Formats: sequence, C-alpha cells, structure tokens
Amino acid sequence: MQLAAQPSVRRALTWLDQNTDWVTEQHIRIVEIPAPTFQETERGRYLAGLLATCGLRVHTDAVGNVIGERPGPSEGIVLLTAHLDTVFDPVREIRVQQKGRRLYAPGITDNGAGLATLVAVARALHEAGVRTGRTIVFAANVGEEGEGNLLGMRQLIQTYRPRLHAVISVDGAATDHIISKALASKRLEWSVRGPGGHSWSDFGLPNPIHALARGVARFARVPVPEQPRTSINVGEIRGGTSVNSIPAHASIKVDIRSEAPAEIERLEHALREAIQAGVEEEMAQARIKDVRLTIEVRELGVRPGGELPEDSPLLAAVRSADQFLGNRSRLERSSTDANVPLALGIPAVTLGGGGQGGGAHSLQEWYDPTGRALGLQRVLLTLLLMTGVLP
Ligand SMILES: [Zn+2]
Repeated sequence: MQLAAQPSVRRALTWLDQNTDWVTEQHIRIVEIPAPTFQETERGRYLAGLLATCGLRVHTDAVGNVIGERPGPSEGIVLLTAHLDTVFDPVREIRVQQKGRRLYAPGITDNGAGLATLVAVARALHEAGVRTGRTIVFAANVGEEGEGNLLGMRQLIQTYRPRLHAVISVDGAATDHIISKALASKRLEWSVRGPGGHSWSDFGLPNPIHALARGVARFARVPVPEQPRTSINVGEIRGGTSVNSIPAHASIKVDIRSEAPAEIERLEHALREAIQAGVEEEMAQARIKDVRLTIEVRELGVRPGGELPEDSPLLAAVRSADQFLGNRSRLERSSTDANVPLALGIPAVTLGGGGQGGGAHSLQEWYDPTGRALGLQRVLLTLLLMTGVLP
C-alpha cells in the first residue's frame, strides 16, 4: 500500500503501536463516566477535552454530539464516529475491574472501545503530523442505544450531508468483521388503559395487564422465519401500582428486526392483531361488560435498512487496510449508527476498535486490549485511504 509508505503515515502507525497503554488508560477513564442514552453530557465533555488536545477545533452541536474538525484542502468530508451512550442506568457508579488481561465494566466494549479508538486515531494523526486531503470530522455522538433512535447520527448527517464522502463508525471491539449492511428494525410501545379498581370489590373489571398478557402470548406464537433472519422481542412490560389493585395502565415495549423490511411490516401487523385480540378477549371475559379498555401505540424508533455496494471504494479501503495488516474479516449485517447513512445511499461502515470484548449490554461486559493496535491501525488506514494524505 503506497499510502502506508508515506513517512507521516508510518509515524502514525508506529505511534499507535507504541501507545496502546495510553489508549487503554483513556478508555478506562471514559467508561467510568456514566452516559446512559439522553444523559451523555458529562462523558461528552470529557471527550471534548481529549479531542482538543489532539489539535482539533471542538464544539458540541444542538443534540449533544461532540465534534472535532480536522480541516483538509480537498473537497469532501470523511466522518469518523463512535457513540457516547450506554444502555445502563444513570445512578450506577462505574468502576473498571481488572482480572488478568480482561477489564470488566458495563459499556467497556460497547462503546468504550469505539470512543478510545476515536481518541487514539485523532491523537496519532496529530502526533505524526499527518496532513489529509479531505477534512476529517471526528464525532462522539449521542443516542445510538435504546430509544435514542440514532438521534446523534441523524443530526450529523443532516449537518454534513452535502459534503459527506464517507462515514466510518467504530462500535465495539474486534477486527474480524466489516458491518456494511444495515439491519432494519422497528421499536414500538403498546399501552392499554382502563378504569382500574380494587382487586376484590371491583373484580369483574377488565384488567389491562391481563389484556396485554393475552396479547403477548398470541404474539409470541407468531412464526418468525429463519430466512430472512428475523427476530421479535418483548423487552419491557410495565403496569400496575399494587398487588391488590386492578391496574389502570399496562404497557409493553417491542423490538422487531429483520434482514427483510417486508418481514418487519408483517410482524408489526401480527403484533397489532395479537394485542387487539388479547384486549377483546379480556373484555369479553370480564363480568362487567360496559367498561372498555383503550389501546394506544407509540413508535419508539425506526432504523432503516440499506447496504454498501460490493464495488464501493469504502469497502475497498477497509479491504486494503486488512490486506496490508494481514487481517481477515467478513461482511456483516447489524443495527448501528451506519444505518442512517446507508439508508440514504451514503457510503458507510461500522468497524470494531480492536482487542476482544464480550457480554455487551450486560453487567458482565468485558474488554481485553490484547492486540488492540491492529484495530486502531485498521481504522486509521481506512480513514486515510478515504481522505487521501498530502506529502
Ligand atoms: Zn454500540
């Protein structure tokens, strides 16, 4: 690879090789600042400080994305992003525990590994004095997890779209995959309401929890195809105030994903029928007949699908970085920040930040930084192949 022979690029690659301990230190500090979706401000502020020490002009946009620009003279922008947010509760104090080579903490891999990569690449370019052709926009973005609905990435695309050349998002660990296909998904909340009352003296009123339970049981029996790969999940169920009250309200949150958007539509329809039938059944069985339950549905999020074409220069860039580094990887489909640009036909991939990780979205989440330099160099080279480097 010609690019990697340029002295400044060689210096950047060497810097990454020699400074993985520094990167892991930053990684730990970042992860110990809690950042649940919609509460990323404090972690964002810390990232802003780190990016500012890498010679970037840093600002925070209207939704809370922390953005560091590294201007280049050529037309077009390459956006390098990592999401700030985690799925975990705000009150939890986070302390990274080390056992052997593994670091344990919620969010250590997803997306501590991505954020550390963002900082490492910015720092390496700065230390090595790399001058890129295109402008790089580094962004630690909000709203990737849970109900964030890719809020941060949507905002970034809106801001930079006319000049966007490519988007590289870094999410999680590893170097064995290239997420070039966006997994479409839909998230819905269904609520059922009634008058509620006393469990004994008002017995006979229709019960919103019973109604939803009947509906969920029906939905769980709906066949889900293996091909195209598809999933359904009732991930939350809420309602009621006490064991001896007929609840006035109950709700569920449902996630539907599929490689085929038509399957999402079919399952959304099946969910609607299941809930409606469950509510009807509950009212039909209730002794008090003149009371009706009401149903409400709310869309929590829609992630659009899309794919990077096989002949995309961005895909070629990742593959030549892999070839240069002696890394093997396969194409994958997943639901990430890259969904937003991919759905709009903007070249985008999601890569891992190197090292190994596991237990994402659980309290047993871990990260092992062994071999992390490979992941950092892979992201750096892919980025520079897209921006071009000036002598
Ligand atoms: Zn993530």
